[in-house]
Amino acid sequence: MTTAPAPGPPAEGADPPPPDSVGETDGVEPGPAGAAHPPASGPTGGAGPLGFDPAEMRLLGHWVVDRVIEHLEGLPRKPVVRTGTPAALEAALGGPPPECGGDAREALEVLTGVALEHMQHGDHPRYFARVPSPSSFAAVLADWLGTGFNAIAASWAGGSGPTTVELVALEWLRELTGLPPGTEGIMTSGGSVANLTALAAARAAEGPGVCYLSDQAHASIGRGLRALGFPPGHVRVLPSDEGLRLPLAALAAAVRTDAAAGERPGFVVATAGTTNTGAVDPLPEIADLCRAEGLWLHVDGAYGAAAALCDAGRRALAGVERADSLVLDPHKWLFQPYDLGCVFVTRPGVLERAFTMTPEYLADVTGTAGEVDLRDRGLELSRRARGLKLWLTFRVHGVARLREAIAHGIGLAEHAEQSVAEDPRWEVVTPASLGIVTFALRGAGPEEHRARAAELAESGYAAVTSTRVHGRPVLRLCTINPRTTRDDILGTLARLGVRLSGV
Ligand SMILES: *Cc1c(COP(=O)(O)O)cnc(C)c1O
Repeated sequence: MTTAPAPGPPAEGADPPPPDSVGETDGVEPGPAGAAHPPASGPTGGAGPLGFDPAEMRLLGHWVVDRVIEHLEGLPRKPVVRTGTPAALEAALGGPPPECGGDAREALEVLTGVALEHMQHGDHPRYFARVPSPSSFAAVLADWLGTGFNAIAASWAGGSGPTTVELVALEWLRELTGLPPGTEGIMTSGGSVANLTALAAARAAEGPGVCYLSDQAHASIGRGLRALGFPPGHVRVLPSDEGLRLPLAALAAAVRTDAAAGERPGFVVATAGTTNTGAVDPLPEIADLCRAEGLWLHVDGAYGAAAALCDAGRRALAGVERADSLVLDPHKWLFQPYDLGCVFVTRPGVLERAFTMTPEYLADVTGTAGEVDLRDRGLELSRRARGLKLWLTFRVHGVARLREAIAHGIGLAEHAEQSVAEDPRWEVVTPASLGIVTFALRGAGPEEHRARAAELAESGYAAVTSTRVHGRPVLRLCTINPRTTRDDILGTLARLGVRLSGV
C-alpha cells in the first residue's frame, strides 16, 4: 500500500538551516553547537560531549520503551505492510545535514511516526509473506542491553562475557539440531552471510572443486559462490524433482560425469526447508553420497533448520545432523529480531583455519587455550554481541515453549492446506511443509494471483506472497508466527476468495 507519511510532528531536524546560519560556514568559526538553536532537550554538560544527563536519559529511554510496547500491543490491529513514496519519505526524513541539534523527543517522534510506520511488520500475526520474523520481547530486551552496553564479541580479551554467551547459545542450538559434539560456530547477520562463511570455510579446507545445488537453492548460495570466485563452470545447478527436491540420481550422475572428465567434485549444497515451498532435500541419501565420494555437505537450513527443535520438524529434517556445515537463521523461526544468522561447521578448526588473522595491532588481544576469538571464525572483526538475545530467549522461555511455538507454526500451515482443499475451485499445489503451503485458483493466471495478494496487502489485513511453483502461479503462506490463530488463517483465506465450509 502506498501512502504518504502519516501526518506527524514537524520534522524539525530535517528543515533546511535558517538563512542566518548559512554564513557560519563561510570562513567564520561556527559558535558552540546549540548556541543559535538552544535545544529544548538534548546534550547537556553533565554527561560530557554527545551525552545526556541521567534524568534526561531516563525520560527518553522510558519514552522509547513505551512506544515499543504500544507498538507491540497494537500490532494485530495495524496494517501488515505500509510503503511510502520516495518523495514523501524524503520530504519528512531528508534535507541537508542538520548543522545544529534539535529536540530529541521531536526527532524520536519522526523516527517512530514516519520511518517505522512505513515498513512490513514481519512479526504481525497475519504477515504470511516471504519469511516472517516473529520476534520475541525477551530477545528485544537483550538486544537493547547489548546496544546500551556497546557489547563487542570480537576477541576473548575484549569481550569474554559476550563471547561466552554466543558460544553457549550456539552450543544449545548445536545440541538441539543434533549436530555432533565438537561442532564450532559463529553468529552472523543472517543466512546469506552464514552461507558465504560456510562456503568460504569449506573451500579453504577442501581446495577448489565443483559445487552442486538444485534450482530451489536460495539465491544467496549462487551469489556467495560468485563472490568467492567459483568459476561458472564449477557451479552445477540441477533441476529439482516433482517434490522440488535435489534429485539424488541426477546428483550422483553429475558427480560421476565430472570426475570422469577430470574435474574435482567438491561440495554439495542441500536445502533443509526451501524458502519457496519448505521442501527438504533427501538429506540422509545425500549425506551417504557425500561420504562415499568425499564431498563436503553444506546444508542451508536458514529457514527450516530451527524446526528440528520439535518432533514433527525433527522427522522432516532427518539427516540434517550429518552436514559438514549447517546454516540456521534465528531471525526467521527462532523468534529473534533482525539480524541473526548462525553457521555451524562440524570439523573443529576449519573456521579458524579459514579466517584467522593476527596482525601486530591485534597481538595483545589474542586468546590462549579455551579462549575463543570470534573474529577468527568469520569475516567480521568488530561485531555486535549477537548471542545475547538468543541466550536470553532460551533462558526466559525454555526449549519446551520454543518447541511448542515452532510446532504451532507447522500445524497452522497444515490447517491452511486442509481449508483450501475444501473448496474445489482451488488446488493445493504444494502441501504444508515446515510451515509453508502454496495453492492456486484453478484456471487463473499470474495476474489474478498477484492481484488478490496485492488487494489483501492493501487492505492492511494480511500479507501473502504470490510466486511460482514448477512455473505455475500460486499464492503462498508462511505461518511461523506463534501468535497467529486459526481464525487469522481462515480470515486470510476467506479474503483471498477461498470458500470455507466450516465457517
Ligand atoms: C532467508 C534464507 C536465506 C538468506 O537469509 P538472510 O537472513 O535473509 O540473509 C538463505 N537461505 C534460505 C533457505 C533462506 O530461506
